Amino acid sequence: MIEKKGEILSDLYILDCGLGSELKRKGFDLPDWTNSIWSAQAIIDEPDLIVEIHKDSIEAGSTVITTSNYYATPLILKDKQSKFDYKELSEIALTLAERAVKQSGKDIMIAGCFPPINVSFRPDLTPNKSEVESFYETLAEIYKGRVDAILCETMASIFEGEIAADVASQHFKKVWLSWNTRGLNPSLIPSGEELIQAAKSVSKFNLDCQLINCAHADLITESLEILKSVASNIGVYANSSIHTSREKQLESYENISEVHYHHQTEISSDEYAEFAKKWIAMGCKIVGGCCTTTPDHIKKIAELRS
Ligand SMILES: [Zn+2]
Repeated sequence: MIEKKGEILSDLYILDCGLGSELKRKGFDLPDWTNSIWSAQAIIDEPDLIVEIHKDSIEAGSTVITTSNYYATPLILKDKQSKFDYKELSEIALTLAERAVKQSGKDIMIAGCFPPINVSFRPDLTPNKSEVESFYETLAEIYKGRVDAILCETMASIFEGEIAADVASQHFKKVWLSWNTRGLNPSLIPSGEELIQAAKSVSKFNLDCQLINCAHADLITESLEILKSVASNIGVYANSSIHTSREKQLESYENISEVHYHHQTEISSDEYAEFAKKWIAMGCKIVGGCCTTTPDHIKKIAELRS
């Protein structure tokens, strides 16, 4: 366990599996992520299923579970005309994570999610600083005293990453900040800014670890090399896919879903574990799974540790 900046983590933290794809796999009618409140719908409709997924990950070997409010943000809820409030849904999501830990009977950490305030991979839709700041301040207030770490997820611009890191590090000792990468380019973040500049920009905050999430497993390995040159601790939770070029590259924001998911080939949990082995050898202290990873992927990572 580490408390101070730069101190080496004494053990590997294992995050949980992807939530959206796991909900779908368990039969939940998951709405499309680009025009709905996506997995946040399950907090309202199927809270027990979320507890079950948390517990499946714990059973598989996760030592950290992340709260399920990734898409419960004020802008997404408002845009999709949901009658629900992000504060209420975030509070419920935290309660579900607490319930899962309690029921598991294990000493599991909870990471409070700091998601992008708007649709993933769309830094062009991020509002002004005070709006983003107040969103994270409110989440910090909800999480205070009840989470073991903050996980800033899928950060898409230096602007967004700096605000999340700033607010999180003012309130919490253990802050993990995870960048997303731009389409198929492992050296850029979605805003088009250089990953190396992004990593440097947040190193002034008291972060425990910088990570990469939600990209193809093979491309993420390249991004990690970049991150490693700046951050004292690095981590990763990739999608269970590798990049396979199918046609011309699609690089506009309007086609971001295509950019992100089109050129992909699914990989098995064993293949994913081969990547995880490489990441741990590179020095990753936090490893888990993003889109389409299942508890079996987590199990294979956990087996690497033993
Ligand atoms: Zn993902």
